[in-house]
Amino acid sequence: MAPAQSTIKSLHVAVIGAGAAGLVAARELRRENHSVVVFERDSKVGGLWVYTPESEVDPLSLDPNRTIVHSSVYDSLRTNLPRECMGYRDFPFVPRPEHDGDSRDTRRYPSHREVLAYLEDFAREFNLVEMVRFNTEVTLVEADGLKWRVQSKNSDGVSGDEIFDAVVVCNGHYTEPRVAHVPGIDSWPGKQIHSHNYRVPDQFKDQVVVVIGNFASGADISRDIKEVAKEVHIASRSNPSKTYKLLPGSDNLWLHPMIENANEDGSIVFENGKVVQADTIVHCTGYKYYFPFLNTNGYITVEDNCVGPLYKHVFPPALSPGLSFIGLPWMTLQFFMFELQSKWVAAVLSGRVTLPSEDKMMEDVTAYYAMRDTYGFPKRYTHKLGQNQIRYLDWIAEQVGAPPGEQWRYQEIEGGYFRLATQSDTFRDKWDDDHLIVEAYEDFLRQKLITSLPSELLESGN
Ligand code: FAD
Repeated sequence: MAPAQSTIKSLHVAVIGAGAAGLVAARELRRENHSVVVFERDSKVGGLWVYTPESEVDPLSLDPNRTIVHSSVYDSLRTNLPRECMGYRDFPFVPRPEHDGDSRDTRRYPSHREVLAYLEDFAREFNLVEMVRFNTEVTLVEADGLKWRVQSKNSDGVSGDEIFDAVVVCNGHYTEPRVAHVPGIDSWPGKQIHSHNYRVPDQFKDQVVVVIGNFASGADISRDIKEVAKEVHIASRSNPSKTYKLLPGSDNLWLHPMIENANEDGSIVFENGKVVQADTIVHCTGYKYYFPFLNTNGYITVEDNCVGPLYKHVFPPALSPGLSFIGLPWMTLQFFMFELQSKWVAAVLSGRVTLPSEDKMMEDVTAYYAMRDTYGFPKRYTHKLGQNQIRYLDWIAEQVGAPPGEQWRYQEIEGGYFRLATQSDTFRDKWDDDHLIVEAYEDFLRQKLITSLPSELLESGN
């Protein structure tokens, strides 16, 4: 039974970050009548998608005192999902009119510039910028009785110390690199860089480069670098130990299993026994969850990339609903998930939707961890959804009374992942699911989210 109107609460809520998660969180919180302040340390909305040619001075980003560059986007980056399934549900990521003379990228897998333009359109459409305090970094979040203290510092050095009813953490998790451990690396004389600090391939001209990791970024970056490098060798732990092959369509891009060790003489030995004299190692080995501003007296920990305890990856049972996290799960439809999680948080804060008791939420977390361990998934995969995403997304949709995800959306992402894994070179320009594009656009038309079908999209690609 829905709670009586008089029990619906309107709270004062801080959102940390104005990326794709923070923007939609702000919109959903305001729709639910909460008053919202979004803290954003950058001068623009868009988070990760705000490309900068600058990178961090420390190429592996190991120095805790370094100046952080937030974005991990490289110049050549195009989306790794088809645009129709990637956008928010009620503001589809379709080709949009120019704005301020900027031309738009109409491709199905557009460049990172188009994603930023889409997020800017979204912020404009829903008047979100008025809620954002730019150039303001949150330095501390901690409980203060039943409320939450948020301390911040802006770029003029002015500090803030405010009390909120709730805090929604949307600070992203692609800024703090994970670096692979390579035996012998300390005495290896070459250069190392993490993909977080990779922008363009120029620095690798005529080099022999080893790229560790062959998922989305590793696959892209190795192809980028092979255009200028002498040789590129991909080391990936998902390859069987005898793997040694030249990738089709190239004469200088080799696939290997993991590195066995690195040596003082500059050589790199792979598990397949092959040896190369390498100039640089590029670590495309992912990122760590990192909340340097969060003080929960040890209640929330990050261990081997498992943030917990969190009920359904969003609410810490003992600190709910005042503290919540949007966007932790990966291998999923990100923007769509941010939107659903945000609706859930907003509705729980207003009291329109209730959470189970703290004990019940803890039981759920414990059962989830037990299942993860039973199936032998490493702890660092706790927030990986992959094949469980539909169940997860539809479960959250049900909590807030939203319809489950559309079939075309789920089929597109499934096919999209398959093409990404099997056709790394061509998946962005060749596909065989035009019928799903048509279904998606018919759906947008039916819901009056667009006014006509974009003919150029239906004609391109094949
Ligand atoms: P972010 O976009 O990182 O935003 C977080 C914001 O919080 C930033 O603006 C940051 O400045 C701010 N912030 C952080 N700390 C503080 C603080 N202390 N105080 C104030 N502000 C703070 N997803 C897709 O759906 N499709 C893709 O094709 C795709 N490609 C990707 C390619 C790469 C290389 C990477 C790394 C990720 C990709 N992703 C993709 C996933 C992507 O991360 C999400 O789509 C999404 O943009 C993340 O949004 P977010 O809001 O969670 O984080």
